[in-house]
Amino acid sequence: MLELSNVQTFYGNIKALGGVNIKISEGEIIALIGANGAGKTTTLMSISGIVPPRSGKIFFMGKPIHLLSPHEIVARGISQVPEGRRIFSQLTVKENLDMGAFLRKDKTGIKKDMEHVFSLFPVLHERRHQIGGTLSGGEQQMLAISRALMARPRLLLLDEPSLGLAPLIVKLIFQVIRKINQEDGATIFLVEQNANMALKVAHRGYVMDNGEITIQGTSEKLLHNEDVKKAYLGIVTAT
Ligand code: ATP
Repeated sequence: MLELSNVQTFYGNIKALGGVNIKISEGEIIALIGANGAGKTTTLMSISGIVPPRSGKIFFMGKPIHLLSPHEIVARGISQVPEGRRIFSQLTVKENLDMGAFLRKDKTGIKKDMEHVFSLFPVLHERRHQIGGTLSGGEQQMLAISRALMARPRLLLLDEPSLGLAPLIVKLIFQVIRKINQEDGATIFLVEQNANMALKVAHRGYVMDNGEITIQGTSEKLLHNEDVKKAYLGIVTAT
């Protein structure tokens, strides 16, 4: 479904991605883990066209997308939930959701999808007339995910959905990630510093260090990899 081939991305003269190769098949949840500043957000920004790669190629559904503008990439079916849950804070919950569907014309489908996101996050239904900026951090994250789902994406890019949230909310968000994958068939590319949670929900994972993929494999394999355990799961095994 998605292929990054030798993607290099720069901020001015600073090389943030040094030739990244990633493949995602339809129906998968893929986790990208790594330390602060490793290049995880830049990987998502390169896919969504916000920070286009300087070299390399990105294919989506077999077609190159690395030369397209961000809105053309959204129109192809890729939605990104940015880090820090950037919702429209002056708009109501419902208006935020309407904004997510702004490229769509199928009114019945939009209504159905709004009911669906309300069933995933009932608190958003209770607060549908509330101004986004007055929601709690967890509710804003739910809204940010729901707004992306309103575009009915083929591929959902999630940047650090657990960041700064209470453990119970994190659990709920991860349950919904699993649900939209299993029940709705959504393909998900998940960037996380919470490597443990991410690998538990994902089918496969990539570890990024200093702008390069250093380890990859099934989540099961990564959860048992000694380097991953030491560096990202906070587990030190006795030697
Ligand atoms: P974090 O978990 O902190 O978000 P990350 O793995 O997502 O980290 P990136 O945000 O992609 O990492 O950053 C990769 C590298 O690019 C870092 O060295 C960072 O300092 C640099 N970088 C990121 N954004 C910019 C920017 N707008 N201008 C210049 N350098 C940047």
